[in-house]
Amino acid sequence: MTDGEWVELPRQLYVTTVCHCDLCGKMVARRFLRQVHDGQPKRFCDADCARLWQEYWRPRYGNRPD
Ligand SMILES: [Zn+2]
Repeated sequence: MTDGEWVELPRQLYVTTVCHCDLCGKMVARRFLRQVHDGQPKRFCDADCARLWQEYWRPRYGNRPD
């Protein structure tokens, strides 16, 4: 399991593209934590959400595609 990687949104992109955390749904303003699970890219607003998703959400609800 990797810690994922932080992806910075280019300024032009984050003005026009709304990006939400895959766990809490919070809007991601400038950068997000990207992790790939079973080939599905996931976006999280921070490491806490990424951990919670792995430890809580995934075992219960699985890795559902968006
Ligand atoms: Zn979040």
